[in-house]
Amino acid sequence: MSKKGRVFSGARPTGRQHLGNYLGAIKNYVALQDDYDCIYCIVDIHALTTVETTADLKNNTYEMALDWLAAGIRPEESIVFIQSHIPQVMELHTLLSMVTPLGKLTELPTFKEKIRQNPNNVNYGLVGYPVLMTADIVLYKADVVPVGVDQAPHLEFARETVRSFNYRYNTDVLVEPQAKHTEIPKVIGIDGKDKMSKSLDNHIELAATPEETQKRVMQMVTDPARVLRTDPGNPEICNVYSMHKIFSSEEEINMVNVECRRAGIGCVDCKKLFARNLNAHLEPFREKRAEIAQDPDAVWDVLYDGAKRARSIAEGVMKEVREAIGLPE
Ligand code: SF4
Repeated sequence: MSKKGRVFSGARPTGRQHLGNYLGAIKNYVALQDDYDCIYCIVDIHALTTVETTADLKNNTYEMALDWLAAGIRPEESIVFIQSHIPQVMELHTLLSMVTPLGKLTELPTFKEKIRQNPNNVNYGLVGYPVLMTADIVLYKADVVPVGVDQAPHLEFARETVRSFNYRYNTDVLVEPQAKHTEIPKVIGIDGKDKMSKSLDNHIELAATPEETQKRVMQMVTDPARVLRTDPGNPEICNVYSMHKIFSSEEEINMVNVECRRAGIGCVDCKKLFARNLNAHLEPFREKRAEIAQDPDAVWDVLYDGAKRARSIAEGVMKEVREAIGLPE
């Protein structure tokens, strides 16, 4: 069956992935493979704009790749690679920076957010981050980029940069990527208030053991009004219920919805039920992960092979780009 086009997406090497990463990105990455040629990149250079130490970079890259593969990314079809293995992306980044007005970068809401988070490290790379992101996408002539609402301005920026480049050099060599808006659920952490993230330590790791998973689930914050077992609750404001809606059966969801409101089920039992369903859902993933992890070299080989395939596309595009600009051969 012929595919609908080429998808590109990148993610920072954050090590072992958690439920938020799974529901927000990985699940979608896996599904997109059925309809598109997919290129998935571990963007280690992007990580350098904010990380304080690179000590874990290599291991985080490996762990993330392992999770992707265990979750169902198929390297024989999709290209999976590490950003820094493709020097052409740095070259394209520099060339695109020449058609990028500085004010446009500093006006992006994500840049403002980043300087708020890292006021002591507003580096040149951080400002140019969206230009590098544009280079990541257009270097492979990706037609489609899956985006959630918060990344929409970045994709729009990439599209404008492509138009500026093509206009400036009177060419059509670069392809304007289209956004594929995806319903990305905002996965709340076990603290019940912030988005699930490793740095806030409110996450549930996909590769955790069933016991560790149950322990994390039992720590989940529920409806604060349910102080006593006999207090009726409101599942609509409870994160455990949101998770049931994803991982439990229709029958169980309905049961929790009814019984929580009349204190027919306690939070402890409700969480145990969710933990059981989550563990059952993750079991095939964990088995596959353990199997792949027996041969770490095979994971690196996937990444090296992906880089080889990515470089071959990238070099062809860069040749066209250099010609379009008029750089001497
Ligand atoms: S019974 Fe379940 S849905 Fe209701 S508040 Fe407790 S954990 Fe949340």
